Amino acid sequence: MWRWTRWLLIVVLVLFGSSFLPWSISPQSVTLPDRLPAASPPESMRVSALPTGVMHSSAMLAFRGGNPMEPRDFSMTAVLVQHPRGDLLIDTGFGREVDAQVKLLPLLMQLTTEYDKGTPVADQLSAAAYDINSLAGVVLTHAHWDHVSGLDSLPKTPILVPSSEQAFIASGHEASQLAQQLTAGRLKSYAFTDKPYLGFAQQFDVWGDGSVVLVPAPGHSPGSVLVFLSLPSGQRLALLGDLVWQLDGITELAEKPWIARRLIDEDTDAVRQGLSHVVAIAQQFPQITFIPAHDPQAMATLPVYPETLR
Ligand SMILES: [Zn+2]
Repeated sequence: MWRWTRWLLIVVLVLFGSSFLPWSISPQSVTLPDRLPAASPPESMRVSALPTGVMHSSAMLAFRGGNPMEPRDFSMTAVLVQHPRGDLLIDTGFGREVDAQVKLLPLLMQLTTEYDKGTPVADQLSAAAYDINSLAGVVLTHAHWDHVSGLDSLPKTPILVPSSEQAFIASGHEASQLAQQLTAGRLKSYAFTDKPYLGFAQQFDVWGDGSVVLVPAPGHSPGSVLVFLSLPSGQRLALLGDLVWQLDGITELAEKPWIARRLIDEDTDAVRQGLSHVVAIAQQFPQITFIPAHDPQAMATLPVYPETLR
């Protein structure tokens, strides 16, 4: 009964919402460089995935125009970037207290949330004999609960966010309350430099070698970032956080469903702008692999730790 009530609610909300909006958005005209930005990643750099659970949903809730009958899982996965100057974890996925954390979500989100939890990142790393003290930091694509939940198992790791996200965490906003609890006393903010990167006006080149470059992509939250990775093999990856939830957002130029944009995106125009920018990059540089945080197939590009991509 609960299940049917939930689905009925979702169908009504999404049908209602999508009927009022223009169907598509168009790629933004962004001035992009002719070539990919230079990078000299060290030979020992590696990237891998740490899946911590999935949420079960439908394509209708994954992107605008998605089929309500098509089941879609949402990955809850952290990405480990091993680099000789310091290993970074990009987001954390689900932590140990996910059951309790879900109960604190707004009711509508609780009603639309069915999930399976896996092993928290810290436990996966320890099981693979990885010393979590080797982590130089956790880079948050943004401070929403499903990206910070696993911080509870990494109590000493510094957390890197731009100052705009630090302010969002400090604001007491409902969407960043868990982050406020879990990041207390260990937030390290960084500043972007005014050096363009793939049409973005600013960037933060974490290790100064172009291997891990963060660019501001505000909208989903005020300090959301995209993470561009350049691997020693020459492969390029773009971790999109929640700019879109699944790859259809990029391939179909389809933003999140209306209800999700209304409830979750802080600034829908900015998200739309970021999306069309990324679509323009994807069209000009098809060699980049784009990975939205919650797309399990895109995430499967990355081997699961201790397997790694180089
Ligand atoms: Zn998310």
